[in-house]
Amino acid sequence: VSGSATDTIERMESEVRGYSRLFPHVFQSASGSTLTTANGQQLIDFFCGAGSLNYGHNPAAAKQALLEYISQDGIQHSLDMMTEAKTRFLETFERTILQPRSMNYKIQFTGPTGTNAVEAALKLAKQHRKRSHIVTFTNAYHGHSLGSLAVTGNQYYHSEHYGSHNNVSFLPYDGYLDDFDTTILLEKMLSDTSSGMPLPAAIVLETIQGEGGIHVASDAWLQRVQSLCRQHDVLLIVDDIQVGNGRSGDFFSFEKAGLNPDMVCLSKSIGGGLPLSLLLIRPECDVWQPGQHTGTFRGNNLAFVAANAVLNHWNDASFVNGIWDRSKTLRESLSSIVQEHSHENWELRGRGMIWGLDVRDGRRARKVIDRAFQNGLMLESSGSDDEVLKFMPALNIPDHQLHQGLQLFRESLNAVMC
Ligand code: PMP
Repeated sequence: VSGSATDTIERMESEVRGYSRLFPHVFQSASGSTLTTANGQQLIDFFCGAGSLNYGHNPAAAKQALLEYISQDGIQHSLDMMTEAKTRFLETFERTILQPRSMNYKIQFTGPTGTNAVEAALKLAKQHRKRSHIVTFTNAYHGHSLGSLAVTGNQYYHSEHYGSHNNVSFLPYDGYLDDFDTTILLEKMLSDTSSGMPLPAAIVLETIQGEGGIHVASDAWLQRVQSLCRQHDVLLIVDDIQVGNGRSGDFFSFEKAGLNPDMVCLSKSIGGGLPLSLLLIRPECDVWQPGQHTGTFRGNNLAFVAANAVLNHWNDASFVNGIWDRSKTLRESLSSIVQEHSHENWELRGRGMIWGLDVRDGRRARKVIDRAFQNGLMLESSGSDDEVLKFMPALNIPDHQLHQGLQLFRESLNAVMC
């Protein structure tokens, strides 16, 4: 099977394909934290579809709700018309996520992908503030449409012909200049009109940079950025596409720093494994005119059904507490591995259920990933040189699989290092 699948893919799929080159195997089924290939190999998944499977593959609640919905011929596609599935999702989101956090946001369904949410946020911010400039940060990743790419910091994805960096300024993210507080530069930029730099409509940021190499901004840095935004009437957009939905330990990654963003982009795991993205908008900022920003797939009802089912995890104290127990296991285990290789100058960064081990060398990271795959562990990397091994197991991965995965990682790393 895998031979002919590889031939078909090489013959038919664009050269742009990526993961099918990195993991040249045919994947057949998946359940919880286990992936199975067509050859019958089983893998523990520490990659989770780049953060879109926080509740695991085919989470039981979503699977059951979807089967029931389809068997009753529930509405699948409805543009942005009113459906029961959408209403149920909105009510659960309000009751389970917004109200307990005393948050008040309008919700715009932006399409299937994270990029769609970022694109909508940038447009709305420009329209609301009546300014065209946006500030973003080094190593940021916000997507691949021209607008979201313009605020993405990895040059590999850019081409001079896109003309996409117009009206965008990049500033150093927290930690980029070691101990230097980079908000000083932001403050200068916002207050010093002699530079000729126009005041931005918004600042867009990730509180933990996922694709950029697991860089964790400090609470103080985030709070300072927010207060500079308020002081200069600039909107704050938090892109929680990768580290929201519980990945950081809290449902929203900015809860720990106590931020109150004007807009929040959510996607990936919000759909319980199905494509869904949305934008949370502070009501005063919702200056859209009806139909002004549209799209055929603004919220898909199957995704609403799955999303509604997985949100109920947040009413379960054992699920919520379990995230922190597993986070501790991950952190302690990875720290001890770093200790064992203390002469290597590696760095462990992360929070909650997202950790990055910076091994300073993309080729070495790749070797570890390949070896881990052979051993039965699915891992990925991030960072400008793919030098950061990325650990993102499902939030509810069973303890024995978490331990087993970490053991497989240790063995794979040691095999590559010896
Ligand atoms: N923002 C962040 C923080 C992301 O991690 C990603 C995807 N890795 C995106 C935006 C873009 O999402 P999508 O790939 O679904 O368009």
